[in-house]
Amino acid sequence: MSDVREVIIIGSGPAGLTAAIYTARAGLSPLVLEGEPSSTSDQPGGQLMLTTDVENFPGFPEGVMGPELMQNFRAQALRFGAEVQTVKASRVEFSSRPFGVWIGDPDTAEPTHRAETVIISTGAQSIMLGLDREAELIGHGLSTCATCDGFFFRDQEIAVVGGGDSALEEAQFLSRFAGKVTIVHRRDELRASKIMQDRGFANKKIEFRWNSIVKGYEGDPTISGLRLADTRTGEESVLAVTGVFLAIGHRPNTGLFKGQLALKDNGYLMTRPDSTRTDVDGVFACGDVQDDYFRQAITAAGSGCMAAIEAERWLEDNPGAIH
Ligand code: NAP
Repeated sequence: MSDVREVIIIGSGPAGLTAAIYTARAGLSPLVLEGEPSSTSDQPGGQLMLTTDVENFPGFPEGVMGPELMQNFRAQALRFGAEVQTVKASRVEFSSRPFGVWIGDPDTAEPTHRAETVIISTGAQSIMLGLDREAELIGHGLSTCATCDGFFFRDQEIAVVGGGDSALEEAQFLSRFAGKVTIVHRRDELRASKIMQDRGFANKKIEFRWNSIVKGYEGDPTISGLRLADTRTGEESVLAVTGVFLAIGHRPNTGLFKGQLALKDNGYLMTRPDSTRTDVDGVFACGDVQDDYFRQAITAAGSGCMAAIEAERWLEDNPGAIH
């Protein structure tokens, strides 16, 4: 039998690492399963690893790069004694205590780790359009991460798909490298916040292609164009671009918890009002995996702090729980 931990934290974005800082400082020796890189949109450190300038995280008046911010979170957690493993949980068992967490083969009888409390902070990830050849074109002109890939498109023409803050932010960043950036949006008005819209409209390198849906990718083995259809006329056209950045939203990483924890209709984890408690006593959820509304780094970090304090108090209230 594996030793029983007081706290296991699954996920290493702002929520998970804030929970790690707080539980480590509370002397709970948290184990953080930070994940492993498996695609450009799925990295330890979460979505900020795929972001450029973060201008709205308090404490950085000049802004900070997303990956640098996450390195700082991680270093702070390590400084207080959090143990961080670069692995993914493959299965969890929350039906009895201590809870079980598996790494690797999920069919082994014994869990890799057992814990009295689990804090879930597995975040969310980029949604793809679901068109043919998307998997093979990632890294060959198709990307979900301007920070990672923008550099490769110097002086080229690029499309960004989407009309939210992410699309505007990606386009703004890409305009530093690209010759021209076209934002392709399926409606005739943006979803993005006013300030981001204003910046987009003011940027001479950014153009907009309204009422357009993407039908497919041109070019083999790398992208040479985006096949578009006008939503009003059905007319098809090809936008000549060598890079396409998808920025059409995110999906919560909750697959591991189906059948174990209550989910909302949209797939996000259900937590009790004003709390990070899930429907299983001793299991807490924080950050984007349970937040379909705010979805900000600062709110994720705040809820990570809440989860840590709630886990700590739960352990105090259940002293018999530790074996
Ligand atoms: P979002 O706000 O959900 O916007 C997604 C965009 O993609 C929408 O414009 C949507 O079109 C479009 N879209 C969705 N599915 C599509 C499809 N299949 N085909 C074509 N277009 C599709 O997502 P987000 O931009 O990733 O932002 C998520 C949250 O993070 C938001 O709350 C946002 O404010 C926040 N955020 C903030 C910042 C910042 O403050 N700096 C930066 C990034 C994100 P419709 O408009 O027609 O639905």
